[in-house]
Amino acid sequence: MRKYSIGIDLGGTKILTALVNKDNGEIVSSIKKKTKKDKGPDKIVHKIIKSIKEVLIEGKKEITDIEDIGIGVAGQIDRNKGIVINAPNLDCANLNLKEILEQEFNKKVLIGNDVEIATIGEMYFGAGKDKKDFVCIFVGTGIGSGIVQNGEIRYGATGTAGEIGHIIVDIGGRPCGCGGCGCLEAYASRLAIEKRIIGALKKGRKSDIQNYLTEDKPIKTSMIRKSLENKDELVTQIINEASEYLASGLASVINFYNPEMIILGGGLMDAVGYFYEKSTQIAKIKSLPTPSCNIKFAKAQLGDFSGVIGAALLSEYRNSKIYNTENNT
Ligand SMILES: [Zn+2]
Repeated sequence: MRKYSIGIDLGGTKILTALVNKDNGEIVSSIKKKTKKDKGPDKIVHKIIKSIKEVLIEGKKEITDIEDIGIGVAGQIDRNKGIVINAPNLDCANLNLKEILEQEFNKKVLIGNDVEIATIGEMYFGAGKDKKDFVCIFVGTGIGSGIVQNGEIRYGATGTAGEIGHIIVDIGGRPCGCGGCGCLEAYASRLAIEKRIIGALKKGRKSDIQNYLTEDKPIKTSMIRKSLENKDELVTQIINEASEYLASGLASVINFYNPEMIILGGGLMDAVGYFYEKSTQIAKIKSLPTPSCNIKFAKAQLGDFSGVIGAALLSEYRNSKIYNTENNT
């Protein structure tokens, strides 16, 4: 019999919900809702419940056909209690998501964080399949990573291992959202790149990207890609600079951890091939010869769906022997 679960990727800008066939990672049905204007626990919970009901209808399944529900949250969570401790992007704190959803659907609910579920997705059905020692790095609004060692995710002593976005690449450098200065994500995240482009335009630099921008239209990944294709000087310069910083972060990971593969995901990596190529080429040059001699780079294979597939597989992963041997926080 086929095994189905619901996977939910609860991010700061969107809630992606999918009905997933756990045997092969196939998405049976999925729905995306914006979270932006509906911050606050009540509205978020309401949207999640609605999304679950909608994917079941679209996938022609009943709640009794699914095994469980897995959710990955962009924030700090308590894995055992299933509580969202703090998610500033969602305006949620101390939200017992597990209890609320278990009462609503009478199904087991598991909670993870956003990077964790995307890493599990890539581990089971993506670029990390058949790999034992790898790091998944996601470049988005911020930069986060999931560390896999001998087939297990490393959570660290207090559950925050993998905060690669806060590796310091420039002492006393640009301010970062964490309160520190000079962190990698203040140089190579999508947000950092957008800030650089907007700042340069305000100073009067000319760029091809101006043709796509309007007052209320933010910079989109597709605009960055088009500008690079048109060999726009400003955007190329800013992406080159971001690549140097990202490569420094990647080289540090290669030297420190000696993984067999680094998987790079997130919208910018997926859509802007130049950024991926440039960063990985420089990382290989910048890292030590022995750990970098056989290092492989790959793009996340499941794209936007890494998270929901991983969320649907949370129970599978946590029921595995490897997860239970760890002291998971
Ligand atoms: Zn930081």
